[in-house]
Amino acid sequence: MDLIVKNISLLFGENLDYIDNGYIIIKSGRIKRVGSGDYREKDDGPIYDGEGILACPGFVNAHTHIGDSIGKDIGIDSSFESRIHPIHGIKNKILQKSDRKHLIKFMRSSAISMMRNGIVVFADFREGGLQGIDQIKEATSGLSIKSIVLGRPEHYYDISRDFYNNPKFGLNVIRLIRNILKFADGLGISGANENTDGSLNQYREIVQKKSMKKKYLIGIHSSESPESEKKSMTITGKSEVQRIITNLIPNFIVHLTNASDADIKLVAKKKIGVVVCPRANGTLGVGIPKIAKMLNFGCRIGIGTDNIMINSPDMFRELDFIWKLNRSLSDKPISARDILKMATVNGGKILGTNSGAIMAGYAADIIFIDKNNLDISPMHDPHTSIVHRVNTNAILNVMIDGKFVDGGVI
Ligand SMILES: [Zn+2]
Repeated sequence: MDLIVKNISLLFGENLDYIDNGYIIIKSGRIKRVGSGDYREKDDGPIYDGEGILACPGFVNAHTHIGDSIGKDIGIDSSFESRIHPIHGIKNKILQKSDRKHLIKFMRSSAISMMRNGIVVFADFREGGLQGIDQIKEATSGLSIKSIVLGRPEHYYDISRDFYNNPKFGLNVIRLIRNILKFADGLGISGANENTDGSLNQYREIVQKKSMKKKYLIGIHSSESPESEKKSMTITGKSEVQRIITNLIPNFIVHLTNASDADIKLVAKKKIGVVVCPRANGTLGVGIPKIAKMLNFGCRIGIGTDNIMINSPDMFRELDFIWKLNRSLSDKPISARDILKMATVNGGKILGTNSGAIMAGYAADIIFIDKNNLDISPMHDPHTSIVHRVNTNAILNVMIDGKFVDGGVI
């Protein structure tokens, strides 16, 4: 059955063009038709009046680690490495020591919070091998938010010890990666410094093997801190990006906060997506991603909120932070519309989903915003209003695959 919303303001298509008065027709969880002006035709199905409402595409949170939801703000003043290093960091210790039930409870809270804040899809770098995947599946079961789970085998090398010997994964690790891919949507790899050239190559080979029936995603962190970049250059003579591009060729790279201009250009040239996490970088004090430059060089940029331990999974705060930072730092600021695209259509494209735009063929993943909200009205510039004024209070409801997540109507 169709569902029709008429008299609604909306951000249309991949360019998020503002339509003041239009309609959206939804069928089987997808957007069937969108238009401006009055809706006159006769479609069967309930008709909602969208008077006073702005429809914005649902957000795509392109990088999270919800597994550490239990560790909010622990060790906030310790060093970068001691907090989130995959082997000896505080984060790993907390995860090891926590009760499974508690871990799952707080992961589920994060997923619900994201959904209420307009996030319709999130891509999670899931630690903990098969067990970790099992946990996130349980934590999100029955929720309509869509999770893209990128697993990893928890097998790390250290370039300061292993780079020149260049060891490769043994058969047991290869088998584990294959098993992970039976349940995950791809691989979320820690970083180039925790891999040899050989192991980076192996990840790619396993995913591309002809016997693999699915198209898997590969994401990897890179150039997050000045220290990690320096370590790479000192030991390998190459930047993290250079090693990643030579050996792995991922679908997207997370951070690039401390990448050189040459590296950013290389990522753009290879058409590898970039996912920036500016607020997480801010908490860790590792620098500010050069988003205006990335855009100028032609990168496709998505936004992620990264570890829950160090940052809240709130895309509205992320948009506001990027917009204001960028206006402070750059002579030629990025438009609010371009920033909003990063949180919606670009993230969707990087992850290969059909979320992120209100146009025919896309999933009906929509945030319904109250234009009469105290903080927004009168709304003179919809893109700017969303980027730095809208918050949870102004959300009337969120729709995922054609269904309202909080039940009821808008
Ligand atoms: Zn991360």
